[in-house]
Amino acid sequence: MSPNHGRHFLQVPGPTNVPERVLRATAAATIDHRGPEFAKLMHDLFARLGQTFRAEGPVIIYAGSGTGAWEAALVNTCSPGDRVLMYETGHFSMLWRDLAQRFGLEIDYVAGDWRHGVDAADLEARLAEDRAHGIKAVAVVHNETSTGVTSDICAVRRALDNANHPALLLVDTVSSLGSIDVRCAEWGIDVAVGGSQKGLMLPPGLAFNAVSEKALAASKTATLPRAFWDWQSMLGTNANGMFPFTPAINLLFGLREALDMFDEMGWDAVLARHARHGEAARRAVAGWGLELQPINPAEYSNALTVVRMPQGHSADALRGVILEAFEMSLGAGLSKLADQVFRIGHMGAINDLMLTGSLAGVEMGLARAGVPHSRGGVQVALDYLAVDSNAAHKKAAE
Ligand code: PLP
Repeated sequence: MSPNHGRHFLQVPGPTNVPERVLRATAAATIDHRGPEFAKLMHDLFARLGQTFRAEGPVIIYAGSGTGAWEAALVNTCSPGDRVLMYETGHFSMLWRDLAQRFGLEIDYVAGDWRHGVDAADLEARLAEDRAHGIKAVAVVHNETSTGVTSDICAVRRALDNANHPALLLVDTVSSLGSIDVRCAEWGIDVAVGGSQKGLMLPPGLAFNAVSEKALAASKTATLPRAFWDWQSMLGTNANGMFPFTPAINLLFGLREALDMFDEMGWDAVLARHARHGEAARRAVAGWGLELQPINPAEYSNALTVVRMPQGHSADALRGVILEAFEMSLGAGLSKLADQVFRIGHMGAINDLMLTGSLAGVEMGLARAGVPHSRGGVQVALDYLAVDSNAAHKKAAE
């Protein structure tokens, strides 16, 4: 291992780089979670999280990871034997399916090639065929972190509406929230599943369910066993700014700071920055002559870029070289894509120089590891980012 000079580049697609001021906020003295100062904090956070998810219903916060929030979404809305329709978009859709199966849910899992998102036309056809309305819920991953594919949730909603089907819509927004547009109310998302450690710029440890009125009503009759994840006991105490058990107090301080940062930056600007970074990273990949994992440009993720290795070359060996030589962590290929792809995370707190530094690390690593590629992908990204898009907009408006 080379000596550690300067900062490690954490460019996995979550956990992401946590801004200094968020870290400092989490280091404040822990307070009484049954006292008035804490209640004030929570009333503020609950109101602002609604804006973050663009949700009209409550947002429930757990001490947990995204996997816990997946479980919470299912156990609060479903009963044993309920049918749930899911799409094989990649590793995370598969893990969510496996979890659901362990609860005795009956999963219709539509096979996919890990290079496309949810097929809304197929969904509409399946729902239209389900005239008896046996399907209780549709559960999809918005941004598939294993493939770099973002599904069109607005189209998914339209499919449910066109088929006039009452199924609940459960959406995993773990790696989209904070980097890619998420609109719970507008898109009729009944449960949005979230986690703290990606676009929200926080350390791991908080998990979220943004819940619609329809999902809340379903939770009153759903019979899957639940204790820690039970929405009703959470909501009962949350109304007073409290929790039924000890919350992750210091992470909640961090959440307040992160939400302050989003307010200062403005949500539109944050999403535009991620779109710009996604485009720059993809241009670099094209400049190297390498292939992206997603096939459909309309589904390219702005939160991460997943790059396929040339035949016969190991992604894990490349990542090893980059870690050793340049102190940068890149995301590994997961399960079906193990060793075939590497993932460049650009979600959360990242700026132009962090991105171009990361791309430079990849280009140097490709050369050092002897992976066939064209030089100059970084230059393509630099040329793209060098243009001041704000100035261009202003000029066009004049
Ligand atoms: N869903 C998506 C899209 C993810 O990317 C992840 C983790 O990377 C998860 C769910 C699982 O979250 P966690 O690892 O926090 O349990």
